Amino acid sequence: MTAFPPSVRRTVTHSGTRIYTLEVDAYRSLPVNVFVILRGPVSQPTYRALVDTGSERPACFQQILGGLDHLHSTYGEQVGLEALDRIILTHEHPDHIGGLPLLQRHTRAPLAAHPLAAESLRDPLDAQQRSLSVQQEVYRWVGLPEEMSAAWLATQKRPVIPAGVTVATELSLQELLDGFIQVIHVPGHAAGQVALGIDEVLLTADHLLPGSLPPLWPERLRPFLGLNHYLRSLRAVEQRPGIRQVLPSHGLPIDRPDQRVEAVRQKVIGKLERVIEQVGTAPGRTIFEIAQVLYPDQPAPRARLLLSQTAALVEYLAERNVLTEARGKQGAATWTLGEQTAELGV
Ligand SMILES: [Zn+2]
Repeated sequence: MTAFPPSVRRTVTHSGTRIYTLEVDAYRSLPVNVFVILRGPVSQPTYRALVDTGSERPACFQQILGGLDHLHSTYGEQVGLEALDRIILTHEHPDHIGGLPLLQRHTRAPLAAHPLAAESLRDPLDAQQRSLSVQQEVYRWVGLPEEMSAAWLATQKRPVIPAGVTVATELSLQELLDGFIQVIHVPGHAAGQVALGIDEVLLTADHLLPGSLPPLWPERLRPFLGLNHYLRSLRAVEQRPGIRQVLPSHGLPIDRPDQRVEAVRQKVIGKLERVIEQVGTAPGRTIFEIAQVLYPDQPAPRARLLLSQTAALVEYLAERNVLTEARGKQGAATWTLGEQTAELGV
């Protein structure tokens, strides 16, 4: 018995490409959308691709199988894991790539991913080790107390993909993938994140979400992370002509992408302003202290995301000389207002 995913949605683009959204439970209280792209006759598709794999949880994998069954029983689509032509990975995060080892027991479909995502997948253990040591330095820089830093790092010890994975097709931004999918590099939330354009529909991965900003980290953690890249990627999405609908990797479709991009931008500006205000009110604090004032009493996973986000905001403002860094105790940076008055035309 396979489990049905919580929901399946069908989108047909103007050229007749079918995009099915399977919403599956990556983790407890974290649903994620996996997409199935089909072209050609329903009874004999000429192209069958899966976009993302869900998490490493077997229950999540079962939901994907249930979703594929549902496409067959409800829409008559001839699609199964064995018949896939392609697996596309939007970015290198656990809820998007974790299911890969389970899937690859059933399919040899070639993987496509951005070169920076491919790099993380090639040697996950090594990538994890390197990222942990940089993470430790970043925690020191933000002024996270030593015991919290140790506890948080301990929860990140295990890479989600146990063994190295070969990406057959490193996505090119010049050529259409498989002849019809436009690839846009949208770093910021993840270094190797891509948005996929299919006719008037854009799959934005975690870059543009309906209800929230995606988690952000400072670029000092890894090149191509951070707010600067995130905002640039927003412009890249905006500039792609003819987008009518956005299918994000979490949550419901976005029918007015232009309005959503603008709302996200305003949200970022509001957050930047609050950071500037905090630094102005009490100069000489660390990022950890600023985050504690902005977001008091948060449970651990959320506190962690908000701390990373605050670090990304501060880094962005420091790059623009709106904030100035000084070295405090134990390598933690402390912050004062810089020479530049806030020009927040993001
Ligand atoms: Zn992500």
